This record gives sequence, structure tokens and C-alpha cells, in this order.
Amino acid sequence: MRDPRYDVLFEPMRIGPVTAKNRFYQVPHCNGGGYRDPSAAAAMRGSKAEGGWGVIFTEQCEMHHTSEITPFIELRLWEDKDIPLLRRMSEAMKSHGALAGIQLAYSGVNGPNLYTREVPLAVSAQPIRTFTNDPVQARALDKSDIRDLRRWFVNAAKRSKAAGFDLICLYGAHGFGIFQHFLSRVTNHRSDEYGGPLENRARFAREVVADIRDAVGDTMGLTLRVSLDETIGDLGFSNAEVREFVEMNRNLPDLWDLAHGTWEDCSGPSRFKEEAAQQALVQGIHALTDRPIVGVGRFTSPDVMARMITSGTLDFIGCARPSIADPFLPRKIDEGRIDDIRECIGCNICVSGDMTMSISRCTQNPTFMEEWRKGWHPERMNPKGGSQSVLVVGAGPAGLEATRALAERGYDVVLAEAGTALGGRVARERHLPGLSAWGRVADYRAYQIRQKSNVEIYFDSRLDADSVLEFGFEHVCLATGATWRRDGVARQHVVPFEIDAAMPLFTPDDLMSGAAPSGHVVIYDDDHYYMGGVLAELLVQKGCTVTLITPAAYVSEWTLNTLEQHEIHRRLAGMGVAIELNRGVTAIGVGHVQSNCTFTDQRRETPCDAVVMVASRVETNEVYRDLTARQAEWADAGIKTVQIIGDANAPGPIAWAVYAGHRYARELDGEDIGDALPFRREITELAAG
Ligand code: ADP
Ligand code: SF4
Repeated sequence: MRDPRYDVLFEPMRIGPVTAKNRFYQVPHCNGGGYRDPSAAAAMRGSKAEGGWGVIFTEQCEMHHTSEITPFIELRLWEDKDIPLLRRMSEAMKSHGALAGIQLAYSGVNGPNLYTREVPLAVSAQPIRTFTNDPVQARALDKSDIRDLRRWFVNAAKRSKAAGFDLICLYGAHGFGIFQHFLSRVTNHRSDEYGGPLENRARFAREVVADIRDAVGDTMGLTLRVSLDETIGDLGFSNAEVREFVEMNRNLPDLWDLAHGTWEDCSGPSRFKEEAAQQALVQGIHALTDRPIVGVGRFTSPDVMARMITSGTLDFIGCARPSIADPFLPRKIDEGRIDDIRECIGCNICVSGDMTMSISRCTQNPTFMEEWRKGWHPERMNPKGGSQSVLVVGAGPAGLEATRALAERGYDVVLAEAGTALGGRVARERHLPGLSAWGRVADYRAYQIRQKSNVEIYFDSRLDADSVLEFGFEHVCLATGATWRRDGVARQHVVPFEIDAAMPLFTPDDLMSGAAPSGHVVIYDDDHYYMGGVLAELLVQKGCTVTLITPAAYVSEWTLNTLEQHEIHRRLAGMGVAIELNRGVTAIGVGHVQSNCTFTDQRRETPCDAVVMVASRVETNEVYRDLTARQAEWADAGIKTVQIIGDANAPGPIAWAVYAGHRYARELDGEDIGDALPFRREITELAAG
């Protein structure tokens, strides 16, 4: 059972008039579903309730129609009509005794109002500050607007109460909430009693807290979420000012929710931020207030969590990503099942779901946001179907997850791997600079699989169609992965282009296998996710001079969606990597590459000693193709189905492969749904015409 060292994490804690059953606090986090997929979001929160969290929050909820952040999909509480949707959310949260919290957001200078077309209202008149630099400016709130805004907060608080919530979080962190806009001199240039000295800049927060307390404070706890350091130059709401603010307003909210800095800081990927990265910023704030404090830090280790409490740094362990990767994290600690924790790897694929307005997914937890859509429980598999045995070929993320989940269902599984390690691409990529935490994808699954008596693993077993047919399993799952192309075919080049065979040329696979170019190396990145940038770091570490050429406008462009792009550019520039944006590569000769401007096609030669080609990947699917060609022999071999999954089917990020493995395991022996949609979907109810 529970290790007594962790007892402290399970102490009940008061937040104003309500009491949390323990110190596990799921801070607000987006999920890409929001108002478009409310039942999916509610079921996701419900799984955390079952997993033992003491406090569970919604994502940001736009509390009035004069401020919204389209195209991003969050929640809305604009009128009474929104209450039933939110009630579904709060009921799911409270289903196992957690407190249900709602985060009320008024985005001010962060809300372009592209949907409502209202003129944005902000603390000061400024251009809207968004990821997309929308060509919209906000008007400054006048005194009567401020009175209106206070009333809108009260209305939203009353609606939150009607929707069944126990806690309200007033959002003033990450540069996204109006409370921070008032507090920060970056966004507050007012000369009235709401601007100037900190005491004035804090006035709005004090007024709204008092208003809401009058309205609902006897039954609901009020939290205020501010960033520990705004990190925007000299004018930003600095850590020193945060401390002053807390000290001046010692007991203002019922709980201080202290986020890190910008969203990029707060959700810093493992490539750039360690667990508990915000510790120095939060240390000592406890002494300035009598109210409890929650803080985040991608906590996955119960020892670190317990230390945060016993050292007097935090009162609640705030988690967003760790609660996504493992909704059952508190329960596993409580039950003494530490090795079963599915630790977040800090890849921020979850964030990309919000940034792409799709629906969030998680590399470690393939059931995230599929709890309602597909009925996937994060800890329980569906019962075993009619057949008994499965051969899984390839022990990458797809094959490992398929094996783990099939074994959980009760199938006899043989996992055959050509190499000598579990993990496939993860076993290799985890040794690249900054990616060691990604190894948890393999570690979690390897541990789980080793606990199962119904799994056998064969290493050094590169199977071909003959050996698969000899094995005679009922089902064959091919998860044989993919390899990086050498011929440069990706987006700029859809067919191979001119490459002199005498020029040393390396793929990412070559570098991960230990090949070591030297001298001046050009990396041609037409992949645009992390690999090009990571290899630039690797080569600089190995003493090369590196030029990175990419047709995109940003280094590692897609990492804009994982909140890493700016750090990647900063790191590479700091290491002396020459970065050439908006340029492709048109030819590779001996001793040089020829590049071209993506706009004008103007060309130039860059002398170099070697080239690293980060293009696209090609599926390793020979075994699948051979087996498909020999379908007539399946019945004699006892084979009922052969499927190809993961990168072998179509290369993608690791999360895609894990999902494919999980889906294979879930659907084996399932009913044939024909042309039907494979998930539930929520459709807006038609209004009267
Ligand atoms: P995914 O991301 O889809 O899981 P990976 O490339 O990470 O794919 O992993 C594929 C794994 O399959 C690698 O570990 C590779 O060694 C293994 N593999 C590839 N072909 C075979 C084969 N014919 N027999 C056994 N294992 C194979
Ligand atoms: Fe963690 Fe990555 Fe899952 Fe997000 S997607 S919760 S960062 S493992």
C-alpha cells in the first residue's frame, strides 16, 4: 500500500469554504475540444476524478462575449444557455469526490474577437497580442467599462455556481488574462487609479475578488492565477513585483495559483526544462501569505512532490501534463504502484492539439480525449475477444503499445524485434540532445510488458514473410517502423533531385547509428519538426560547424505548436549554428550545396564538407507487402488477419504510433462497423430556422 513518505500528499486541504480531499490539483489545461467537444472534455475530466485528483479544473472559459480567442477552442460562459454544458463538466469532475473548478478568462489585449466581432476591450489601447499578430487593436476600458466588466465577472461567477462548480479561478497568468494585464506595466499604461503604482494596478483584482466573494464566496473558493515572472523585459510583472503583490494582498484569494511565466515557460518541454523548473521563483512566497499555494513543474515523481510540500514551498501539487499522461497518478501513489505511473515525457504534443484547434492527444496516454469518443478508459482495456494469439513484429512505440494493451486484454502475444532493445525509434532518439525523457515511452511499456506472463519477447529476430507464416499466429500486427530517406524527397522535392554520390551525405538514422561527419556540415531540413534542430545541436556538440537550411520561415517550424520554436532558435543561434530560412536546397555537389530562395528562386552555393538530409521517411513494409501477396497461404498457416500499423503504415510523430498500437489492441476481434464513423461525435443542435 501507500508509502508513508507520501502520506502528506493525501492530507485534506481547505480552499476558502470548501475542502479538497488531497493535495493533487489538476490546474486548468486546454484540450482542443472545448465548446466543440464538450462531452469528450467532460469524460476526460471524469477520468481524472476516478484517478484520484482532489481538485480538477476546466480549461480557460471565456466569461463574456466581448472577449474571445478564436481560432482557439476553449469553453464559453456567455449566457445561461451555456450552463448545461458546463454542468456536465462539473458533474464529471465531482463524480469521485474532487472539487470542480472553473477558470474564468477575460482575454482583453489577448482576445482578437474574430468570432463575435466586438471591439476588444483592454486595460490600455494596444495591438492585440496573440500568436498570430492579428491586425486588430483594442480600445482602453473606461471607468464605465470597468464597472461593466466587474458585473460580468459577477454574472459569470453566479452562472458558475449554477453550473455546479466549487472553485473559481480568476485567470491572470501566461499573458492571457486581464488580471495580469492590469498588474503588468507592459499592458497597463493607465494614469488613473488603476494604473501607475502596484497598489493601483492591483485594484481591479481586489475589486473583482470582493465582488465575487459577496456574490458566491460563502459556497465557492476563489483562486487567483498569476505568473511568477512575466519575463517580458523591464516592464514585465517580475518575480519581485509578484512577491510584493502577494505581500500587499496577503489573503486576497482563497488560494494563490502560481504559474511559471509565459505559457511557453509554464509548459516548458523536457528538451528545455527540468521537473520543478519554477522552484526558485516560487520559493519563499509561502511566507508572504496565509493562503495555500499551488504551483506547477511537470511533476511526475512523488518524491519531488512530497519535498515541495514538506519544504513549505507549495501546499498543492499542480499538474496539467502529468495528469494528462496519467490521469490515475494520485491513485497509483496511494496504492503504492509507483512503477505503474505513466510519466509525462514533456513533448507537448498535447499542446499541439489546442494550437491546431483539432483535439488534443498525448504521446504517453493514447486514451486522452478518447474517453467519450471511443469509450477508451485510461487504465482498463475491453475484455478479450474470440481469438487467442497475436504476433507483433517490431518493438517501437506502436508495437510496444499494441503488445502491452493486447496482453492486458488477455491475448497471448509474441513480440519479435529485429534489434536487441525495446523502443524502436525511441530507443535511438532518446540519446539525442534533450530527448532523454522521451525514453519513458519505451520504459513504461517495457516494465508493464515484463509483468505479464502472456507475453514473450524475441530479440535479434528479423522476421520475413516465410517466418511469419511458419509461426502460425491467428493475428499478425506489423509495426516495423520507417527509415529516413536519403534522396531528399519530402515537400520541396517530390521526386529525387541532383545529388553527387561522392559528397558525404548522412540521414538522421546514420547519425543515430553513430556516423560522425566533420568540418562544415549543412543540414537540409524539409521535415520541419524537431529532428533537424536536434541534429544541429548534436553536430555542434561533436565539433562541427553547422549551417541549417530550411524552406520554412522558422527553424523546426512545426514546433510552434509545441511551444518550443523560440527556444530552439535561441539555442541554435547561441551555439553558433548559421540559420538560413526560406531557402531550399536544389543540388548537392562535391564540396557544396546549391540553395534557392523559396520566393525568388535566386540561387547560391554554400561550400561544405558534408550534408545531413532531414527529408521524409519511408515505410518499412516489405514483410506486410509479401504477406499480402501470399494471402492464399494464410488459412493453412492459421492466420486470420494481418495488419500494418504505426510508422510502417504511415510515418508520423511518436504519439501517432502509440495511438495506432493502442487502437489495434482495442479493435482486435471487434465487430466490423463497415463504413460507420469509428468514434462518437457531438453536433451542434440546430436552432429553429
Ligand atoms: P513505430 O514508431 O511505428 O513503433 P519504430 O521505427 O519505432 O516504429 O519501430 C519499428 C521497430 O521494428 C524497430 O525496432 C525495428 O528494429 C523493428 N523491425 C523492423 N522490421 C522488422 C522485422 N522484419 N522483424 C522484426 N522487427 C523489425
Ligand atoms: Fe506529456 Fe507529451 Fe502527453 Fe503532453 S503529450 S502530457 S507533454 S507526454
